[in-house]
Amino acid sequence: MSDDRSDSLLSHPLAPGPGLSLAVRRFGTLGTGEAVEAYTFGNDRGLSATVLTYGGILQSLLVPDADGSLDDVVLGFDTLDRYVEASPYFGATIGRFANRIAGGRFSLDGVEYVLDRNDGPNNLHGGPEGLDRRLWCAGPVAGPDHAGVELAYLSPDGEMGFPGTVAIVVRYTVTRAGDLRIDYTATSDRNTVINLTNHSYFNLAGAGIGTIENHMLTLNASAFTPVDGTLIPTGEIRDVAGTPLDFRVASAIGDGLRRADEQMFRVEPDDGGYDHNMVLDSHGPTGAAAARVFEPGSGRALEMFTTEPGVQFYSGNFLDGIEGKGGRRYPHWGAFTLEAQRFPDSPNQAAFPSTRLPAGGRYSQSTVYRFTAPRRPGRPRADGTTADD
Ligand code: BGC
Repeated sequence: MSDDRSDSLLSHPLAPGPGLSLAVRRFGTLGTGEAVEAYTFGNDRGLSATVLTYGGILQSLLVPDADGSLDDVVLGFDTLDRYVEASPYFGATIGRFANRIAGGRFSLDGVEYVLDRNDGPNNLHGGPEGLDRRLWCAGPVAGPDHAGVELAYLSPDGEMGFPGTVAIVVRYTVTRAGDLRIDYTATSDRNTVINLTNHSYFNLAGAGIGTIENHMLTLNASAFTPVDGTLIPTGEIRDVAGTPLDFRVASAIGDGLRRADEQMFRVEPDDGGYDHNMVLDSHGPTGAAAARVFEPGSGRALEMFTTEPGVQFYSGNFLDGIEGKGGRRYPHWGAFTLEAQRFPDSPNQAAFPSTRLPAGGRYSQSTVYRFTAPRRPGRPRADGTTADD
């Protein structure tokens, strides 16, 4: 994945290339009176994303199915108020530190930092007022083969307990070919730790249409990081062989969910569930797909590529029928997340890949979600024609 930023909003304010669209509208107003905007951008195949300046949230993602019909495949809300009141991180940009930091504390260069806690004893997803709850500056991004939005936020020194003033830029783009791409950069004026991700909940049949038990998942991961009772990694890197976390060959998520396993019940004591950091076998700019998910009913497939060494696979265990967009309810196991990340609790785990960002250094992360839905022979498209025409 290249990192060409020459097309940022500073050099090309608007006007995406042919076959691409880009628009901005008011989404709502915060209690402070500040306006929240929604950027919608897409391609002429029907792939269309809407991103909010509040929380850097991917609010909607329309994706064609095998018959050319569009569905919104990410969970979320129709109004800003619902996101502000209580959202389980639907579509949000997560930081400064994705997933959990044990005891809400870590040491860096001999100094202990105490973080705001929001998950029992732990810091989760950057704390109670993380990047998912911030208002970001934004501007359009447009190029010959992509359209999108660039978001910027300056996180002050000490925010949620993390050291350093950190400048964060997140850029979402949709390409003509059918990718949703998210590029993150960050710089800090002091040594700090950082781990950014996106928390979209996907259901490839459409958000609010059943559970994800029939989704076929492949993960390019031979190992995972087992967790303790508060979902903190024990430090072990465990082989997936013989466990329900072995998705090296495509299998239905529901088959694994029904297997009795101590790790599955540790994350969800009643029914079991997935909520684990998978250790990817290959990653980086030219790596193989980290994950592939196929939903047989719609024919939609999602492939994920990332620069990151890990991905949090979460099966929506804490969804409980919450009402979302269009009045649809999101059931238990009604979505999955694939959160590209460095490993949880890395600041306290010396053997994990480092999450240190030195003063003056530059953090970057790129993740691509690629959508395909091969046309079914003979089936009519939305416009009445068929693939055989
Ligand atoms: C975590 C889950 C958590 C969910 C929503 C995931 O990234 O791993 O434990 O419940 O986010 O907060």
